[in-house]
Amino acid sequence: MAVRGTIFDIQHFCTHDGPGVRTVVFLKGCRLRCRWCHNPESQLPELELFFHPMKCIACGKCTEVCPQHRPHEILSDSTLRKQYCRGCLLCADVCMSGAIEKIGNQTDVDTVMKEVLADVQYFRHSGGGMTLSGGEPLMQPAFSLALLQSARSYNIHTAVETSGYGKREDLQAMLPFIDLFLWDIKMTKSELHRKYTGVSFLPILNNLRYAADNGANIVLRILYIPKLHDNVIYIKTLSEIMSSLNCKPELEIIPIHRFGVAKLQKLGLKEEYVFREPTPEQINCFKSKIRIR
Ligand code: SF4
Ligand code: SF4
Repeated sequence: MAVRGTIFDIQHFCTHDGPGVRTVVFLKGCRLRCRWCHNPESQLPELELFFHPMKCIACGKCTEVCPQHRPHEILSDSTLRKQYCRGCLLCADVCMSGAIEKIGNQTDVDTVMKEVLADVQYFRHSGGGMTLSGGEPLMQPAFSLALLQSARSYNIHTAVETSGYGKREDLQAMLPFIDLFLWDIKMTKSELHRKYTGVSFLPILNNLRYAADNGANIVLRILYIPKLHDNVIYIKTLSEIMSSLNCKPELEIIPIHRFGVAKLQKLGLKEEYVFREPTPEQINCFKSKIRIR
């Protein structure tokens, strides 16, 4: 039987998620709950809804089908969503204006690969390939593995963007089929990592060391949030971790941005923490302090 999984997007002609021109498959579901998440619609594994009130033409069809009879009210507030929404998605099925939008799509490997294979000529000319992102690819291990194996069978370069938070055996199974890891580092102190992402850093670090020890090609994507990351101890610990890995990881600084804020509103959520985007000078200054021996 074909391996199935849940994705929420496939983007073509991407140039920031690995080398060359890439097709990025966004898998739904992530165990982390980063306060700054720029894809909040990726966090839950199940299908969910965006509500865009500005697109509503007040036809009333969603109210007719909603078992709770008040879809607008429910979808505008995450607390009401949790309390009353049954997740039946009937409102999205009848909404023709796009005001209620389904996020997520249950699909199979062949369907995804058909889209990826359509871009093969661009991969060949640019040195690109397929990138799995999310969400978290390690959260759908069987689906991710099947996609990676399929891409490998077509000789397509593979990259995986990951937080590194997942089961060791899943990472171990996928590792031979991943040409490049784009490994996000958000914090290095476990208690701070837990405070801002909901999980400890330790299993991530252990997986990172495991991947590095087993020949993985790794780009470390270091999140940068002014003030939060501007401290000597963090930069020292980060430099020590990078220097101690059994591989020479490339380093990319990922400055915080606020693209996810509009999405929070569409999910009925509020922005809990307001992070300031850094200036180019701040980014350069932060980067210059990281030392790899
Ligand atoms: S998903 Fe179902 S219960 Fe939830 S708002 Fe839409 S119709 Fe109502
Ligand atoms: S079905 Fe869509 S357009 Fe019609 S009232 Fe509901 S949200 Fe608005």
